Amino acid sequence: MAHPRPGVDYPESWRELLAWFPDDPACLTYLERLRWPGGFVCPACGGYESWRMGDGLLRCTGCARRTSVTAGTIFAGTRSPLSLWFAAAWYITNQKSGVSALGLQRALELGSYETAWVWLHKFRRAMVRPGRDKLAGEIEVDETYVGGVAAGKHGRGAEKKTAVLIAVEKRGRGMGRVRFARIPDTSGDSLLPAIEDLIEPGSVVATDGHAGYHGVAGAGYTHDRHNLYATGDPAHVAMPRVHRVASLLKGWLLGTHQGAVRPQQLDYYSTSSPFASTAAPPTTAACSSTGSSSRPSRPSRDH
Ligand SMILES: [Zn+2]
Repeated sequence: MAHPRPGVDYPESWRELLAWFPDDPACLTYLERLRWPGGFVCPACGGYESWRMGDGLLRCTGCARRTSVTAGTIFAGTRSPLSLWFAAAWYITNQKSGVSALGLQRALELGSYETAWVWLHKFRRAMVRPGRDKLAGEIEVDETYVGGVAAGKHGRGAEKKTAVLIAVEKRGRGMGRVRFARIPDTSGDSLLPAIEDLIEPGSVVATDGHAGYHGVAGAGYTHDRHNLYATGDPAHVAMPRVHRVASLLKGWLLGTHQGAVRPQQLDYYSTSSPFASTAAPPTTAACSSTGSSSRPSRPSRDH
């Protein structure tokens, strides 16, 4: 694939990741499309024409201002290759049982444990978004249980499992933003308010045939109901994104982070697909400073 599209194309394998992002120019092209979906806009003069210099900065052909696409992102000022950062992002989000700094260091053959630790924590911080902006568009929703004591274990049985609602935006074949909500149980009385809390009315909400979702259509959504028993499709076929997030969430809670994050804290955590958001710079500030709300038709560019 010559130009993987941010938020749409997601590398399915390590091999695909390396093929799409072999070097820094490939990563920069990806980040530039993420920041300027309609093409480059100079933050100084509003010009649309630029060329990429040897150090990766974009130089405006109109005013010569140099712009860094990584400014304001976790990649800002890094001396490591972006392709290595991309590999780290992919690795961190594809380990089902959680990621340790040592695991990251070994997988990427990083020179030092400290680097791996710093990178891991940069990604973790970037994946936690305090904003509670609601999901919109097409959303996959499912509920799952996390935490508690595993079946068959005896002893400290005080801790109960926690029901969690998971909502994931569809973005082409990939996923957009993800939200979790802790719920008291999986009845409609618990599920519906959580859905209304997380998802904009008018969105398309895909669920399985669980009775707790019967009120979704009446709450102002288009209900895309997948009766998994009737179709014979397993959950990971009918709703692959939410199924994937559920297993990642369990791995995250049960894996190397045991004790660090408790189900009760999930209310405060929201993660996003790293290729959709950890790389996403704060674009609006830079772009709105051009001062033009209506843009003329633009010349085609290539960079
Ligand atoms: Zn300019």
